[in-house]
This record gives sequence, structure tokens and C-alpha cells, in this order.
Amino acid sequence: MAEILLRLDTLYPNAACALTHDGPWQLLVATILAAQCTDKRVNQVTPGLFRKYPTPHDFAAVRLEVLAQDIHSTGFFNNKAKSIVGAAQGVVSAFGGEVPRIMEEMLTIPGAARKTANVVLGTAYGIASGIVVDTHVQRLSARLDLTKNSDPVKIEQDLIKIVPREKWILFAHQLILHGRALCQARNPKCAECGLNTVCYARDKTA
Ligand code: SF4
Repeated sequence: MAEILLRLDTLYPNAACALTHDGPWQLLVATILAAQCTDKRVNQVTPGLFRKYPTPHDFAAVRLEVLAQDIHSTGFFNNKAKSIVGAAQGVVSAFGGEVPRIMEEMLTIPGAARKTANVVLGTAYGIASGIVVDTHVQRLSARLDLTKNSDPVKIEQDLIKIVPREKWILFAHQLILHGRALCQARNPKCAECGLNTVCYARDKTA
């Protein structure tokens, strides 16, 4: 683990969230929109969206079908509109319009599951409550032999035991970048990979 962390630091010293945002609320919305969609597409949609609806109060008051149209290009727009309006209403009614800083409180917000909560707490607030386990972290954790589990919640529990807490936020960003750059689901580019000599994945290509 220490060697993997060292190499990730060399390869991706400045890994950060690719979703453009200004503050925790915007990141929460962007993370909901990013499900089954590229960050690039989300970043095209959010500037106009936040101009139209500057605060959680604005999102809480919008009609679902109107918001669904606004976010149409990100896909799954009906469900995402429902999640965003639900989250806005939760943030406004229970937390005075401010996204909470505690995991247990985050999990009471409709539309914010554990992964989303970890993204917002880690990236927007700098609070390491856990490790973001998205599809990249899930796949790379298995390939790098950091877990034997396939359920994201269990993977996160495995990771937090072996990754030092001060690395939790950066580590997930680094794995996500590596998953996008080289360690893709199909045909990972192992010949170019800086982790090659510490990786024993069965589907290695070199
Ligand atoms: S060697 Fe291949 S499978 Fe292993 S981490 Fe690198 S790209 Fe992924």
C-alpha cells in the first residue's frame, strides 16, 4: 500500500475533482448530474444552471419538468431532477440552506448517497469522512488487490483500514484519474502504467 501511495503521488501529485463548482451545494448538484454522464458534459451544463438557479432555495422551488429540461443533456434527467429538487428541499428545510458537514447529516439528504456525501465532504469541505468509491475506485481497488469485495460500501471499509486518513481524499482522486488515463475497464494500458510492477491483476495486458 505504501508503495502504491508513493507512486500515485509521483504520477498524480495534484489530482483533484474534475467537476467545476463553487462551494458544496454546487458540487452536490454536479455530482448528482455526473451519474452515468461525463464530467465534461456536466461542466457544460452547470454554469448556465447555476446562473438560472443561484441557491438551493431556487432549486427547491423549481418544477421537476422544468429542471428536467434544463439538465436534459446529462441523461436520466427525470431521476436527476427529482434527486436535485429533493436534495434542495432537504438542505433548505433541515439545514437552513447550507450543506451539512457531517456524514450522518449528509445521508439524510434525499439524493445524497454515501459516495456523493464523500465527494462533497472531501472535496468541498476538505473533511475526510470516508473514501469515494466510484466505478474507477471499485475497479482499481480490485486490480491492485486492495479488496476482495465488490460492494462499494464494503470496499470503502477495506480501503479506510489500509489508506492513511490524511490520504483518503487525494487517493480517490488519484485512482479516478488513473482509471480514466490508463487503467480503463477494457484493455488497460499496462505497458505505460507506473503501477505495473506492484499490480497483479488477472486482466493485465502487459
Ligand atoms: S498494470 Fe494495468 S491493470 Fe494494473 S494498475 Fe496499471 S493499468 Fe491497471
